[in-house]
Amino acid sequence: MKENELTDTSSTNIKEKENISRKGFLSMTGKYVAIGAMGNLVATSGKDRVLAQTVKKPVSPATMVPYKQEDQIVLEKWKSEYDQQSAPVPMPLPPDQRIGYAIVGLGHLSLEEIIPAIHTCKKSKLAALVSGTPDKMKKVAAQYGVKPENCYSYETYDQIKNNQEVDVIYIVLPNGMHKEYTVRGAKAGKHILCEKPMANTSEECREMIDACNKANVKLMIAYRIQYQPHNRKLRELLQKKEFGPAKFVEAANCQSSANPDHWRHKKKLAGGGALPDIGLYCLNTTRFILGEEPTEIFAYQYSTPGNPLFTEVEEFISWQMRFPSGVIASCATNYNVHESRRYRVHCERGWLNMDKAYAYKGQDLTTAKANGKLELHENIGMAENNQFAAEIDHFSECILKNTKPFTPGEEGLQDHLLMEAIYQSAREGKPVKINAAVKVAEHRGPEPEIG
Ligand code: NAD
Repeated sequence: MKENELTDTSSTNIKEKENISRKGFLSMTGKYVAIGAMGNLVATSGKDRVLAQTVKKPVSPATMVPYKQEDQIVLEKWKSEYDQQSAPVPMPLPPDQRIGYAIVGLGHLSLEEIIPAIHTCKKSKLAALVSGTPDKMKKVAAQYGVKPENCYSYETYDQIKNNQEVDVIYIVLPNGMHKEYTVRGAKAGKHILCEKPMANTSEECREMIDACNKANVKLMIAYRIQYQPHNRKLRELLQKKEFGPAKFVEAANCQSSANPDHWRHKKKLAGGGALPDIGLYCLNTTRFILGEEPTEIFAYQYSTPGNPLFTEVEEFISWQMRFPSGVIASCATNYNVHESRRYRVHCERGWLNMDKAYAYKGQDLTTAKANGKLELHENIGMAENNQFAAEIDHFSECILKNTKPFTPGEEGLQDHLLMEAIYQSAREGKPVKINAAVKVAEHRGPEPEIG
């Protein structure tokens, strides 16, 4: 079934059913799905008949959740106009209308960032956990109020299809496991949010996109920087050409590691070394802020001989990307360098610099602009957001409104095609032309609302 067929029928019904609870609505939806699947049209009214004919197979029911937020609460103002005004009062959806997430893999990212972030979300809630370590899962479930019956092992994972409280599966496993858990999750009829890098290879990315299309579920890749206010502001300034056209970009994302037994240093589980793990941020963010796709790549690769960390995956990659506008981006990533995450865009009449560009917080946007004989420097102070909460709520919004994600599977596929070209160039010692680039802009959904 095509997505727009579903949109048509569900949007009609969302309007009509605004007044009923989500649970009631989902149970009605379940009945219609059953009727459609049997091919017996027992509904009486004309509108019901259309729904029964159109919905032929089970879909994750969240695409039909009624969506209605109360009017914004506005409080009396008291601050002077010279100070920043308070942010709007947060307007979370009532819990029974929020999208339920199952988190798969309870490692650093899940426990330190994602699960705490979900509790600050406005449209999303934690519904289930999947882990191979029962004791840890029991503790986390108790801490965050997840019911014991909503805790799954990797073996019982597929049973999630019977859990109506789960709308989305968020995959936070080693990269080499993303494809399997996406395909199994899609078969369970759940929408998929998958951590970056999307997989180990572009071939795996295509399989993931196909599986989600076939199951008629949404797929989003968790590119948190695209939901981060400072990086979005820099992109907007570039789009407005306030500094003249961009000419070149420098970008670096580096950190150090010390455990050769960790999955990040095993090719099968990680896909590669510094490049897919952290260099990906230079690649993806440069594409995002410039709004164009590279046509040619040239790369160097190096690993210190004898270092046990780098027997299977690379330590260092440096590459250049040429864009259709003439911009060249010079990027580097290293797994054996003190933490350093920054980029600078050099433009005709100034530059824009982002320190801590790819970090979880602390982004620092400074600019310099030519002004006659002067150079004006500015530090653009902006409120920070929780990037994880922003990206998770964006995906929930897509499900509630049945729209495409801003960072769909095709965005992840594009990065993998480009990373494969980077490795090829480093191997062959010559530039690689990019012929097979995906037209990502065609796959993107609406711009996210970043509150
Ligand atoms: P981690 O090692 O801390 O956690 C991985 C989890 O997977 C652990 O709970 C581990 O028990 C489980 N696991 C299941 N099978 C495993 C196996 N065969 N080998 C190893 N672990 C196994 O890793 P992490 O840092 O949480 O990274 C998880 C994913 O999140 C990766 O894809 C990574 O690239 C991504 N990530 C994204 C960001 C971001 O900012 N968006 C940051 C860090 C990590």
